[in-house]
Amino acid sequence: MTTVLSASQNFDCQSCGACCAYSADWPRFSLETEEELDRIPAKFVASDLGGMRCETDRCTALTGTLGKSVSCEIYAVRPIVCRICMPGDDECLMARERLFGTAA
Ligand code: SF4
Ligand code: SF4
Repeated sequence: MTTVLSASQNFDCQSCGACCAYSADWPRFSLETEEELDRIPAKFVASDLGGMRCETDRCTALTGTLGKSVSCEIYAVRPIVCRICMPGDDECLMARERLFGTAA
């Protein structure tokens, strides 16, 4: 079950980016249509075409400095898993804990 903390409203994704730099195996594509995937520039797509291309653990579509100021270069066409991830949910807290040593 996903737990969403009341503090989640205070999490500012544009000054975080932890979930975009969590794993070289994330984000993967899932139920996107061919048309949706075609809108993602090829330079950001993994060589196996199964997800976003990462450098170390960081998605290549993420610009800026983690924990300070970040943005997604393909925000309007980002993968479904990126849309599902919500500030304050379990995955968010796990990513923040890993990157910053604290979820808060
Ligand atoms: S880890 Fe949470 S707060 Fe940080 S960018 Fe992802 S959803 Fe937003
Ligand atoms: S596509 Fe955008 S929202 Fe998704 S992990 Fe990469 S930078 Fe983050």
